[in-house]
Amino acid sequence: MKESLRTKVLAIISEDQILYNEPMSLHTTFRVGGMADTVLIPGNEKEAVALLRLFSDCKEPWFVLGNGSNLLVSDKGYRGTVIWIDHNLSEITIDDDKIRADAGALLVKIASLAAEASQSGMEFASGIPGTLGGAIAMNAGAYGGEMKDIVESARIFNPETKQCEEIAGKDLCFSYRNSLIRQKGYVVLSATLKLAKGDPVSIRSRMAELKEARTQKQPLEFPSAGSTFKRPEGYFAGKLIDDAGLRGYRVGDAQVSEKHAGFVINTGRATAEDVITLIRNVRKEVYEKSGILLEPEVCMLGEGLEL
Ligand SMILES: Cc1cc2nc3c(=O)[nH]c(=O)nc-3n(C[C@H](O)[C@H](O)[C@H](O)COP(=O)(O)OP(=O)(O)OC[C@H]3O[C@@H](n4cnc5c(N)ncnc54)[C@H](O)[C@@H]3O)c2cc1C
Repeated sequence: MKESLRTKVLAIISEDQILYNEPMSLHTTFRVGGMADTVLIPGNEKEAVALLRLFSDCKEPWFVLGNGSNLLVSDKGYRGTVIWIDHNLSEITIDDDKIRADAGALLVKIASLAAEASQSGMEFASGIPGTLGGAIAMNAGAYGGEMKDIVESARIFNPETKQCEEIAGKDLCFSYRNSLIRQKGYVVLSATLKLAKGDPVSIRSRMAELKEARTQKQPLEFPSAGSTFKRPEGYFAGKLIDDAGLRGYRVGDAQVSEKHAGFVINTGRATAEDVITLIRNVRKEVYEKSGILLEPEVCMLGEGLEL
């Protein structure tokens, strides 16, 4: 970061909210990735918006990070600035059947508080290890539910106008693992979720049931970014990969999970190069065997991760 830009950043946040040459392997659930030049950690929404305004006004590349649970970062790292919207922006307020939460709040935490308040609707998300912001951007979903079903509105920063806006859920153009947030490069600051009064025992029991299903089926004992590929319409990525004979297939320490072929796992010291090579080879092989071209669900950051 240029010195003149750093001076402007230091007018918004303090030196201890800046990390230099930060290994992104520490900020991704894949535990993979080289160093980002700079990571900025806003302490509240006001700081986040001021930083976002500053960066949307200059040529320096920037990227918004949540919990890094759907992210593959290049071994060469990221020549730019990461603005990390996580634990510092994680307030959650429950009011009757509505929850207002900051973008950095973890879905797991929101789901647990919703259950405590006898609010149903978040059960599907209780095992997704992302922040609210990342989940809205990705329209995260599982077991028949999606963020689209529960987002009443989101407060976003628009880098084009440099203003904050409240956008109704119905206008967020949610589709499978996509939303207006990703299409327009908006940044989620907070959101209101609309839930429904439910029976706390049934809510907890549904959450426990889904947790058990995840533990049984997913390789949660290894670092990963969840499902590596999107579900092609009418198929399951894991089944196509399995049918292509690729269950357990390895490149270096990256492996198609033996437990769930839809997950690429890091069995030890996988590099981003291992992961992307494996992804490329799986795509090619599955295409040759089935005629279906898998698209990654995992977001990529940095050089050399082209398909
Ligand atoms: C074990 C495991 C299981 C998983 N299971 C599921 C599942 O069942 N269903 C599912 O959908 N996903 C699943 N995932 C993937 C992941 O948890 C979700 O996509 C999650 O919503 C990503 O949130 P995040 O905060 O980690 O985002 P990150 O990984 O940090 O970022 C992902 C994308 O969102 C953007 N982003 C992050 N925060 C914001 C923000 N505040 N505003 C705008 N954009 C933002 C980033 O720029 C990036 O493009 C799983 C992952 C793992 C590791």
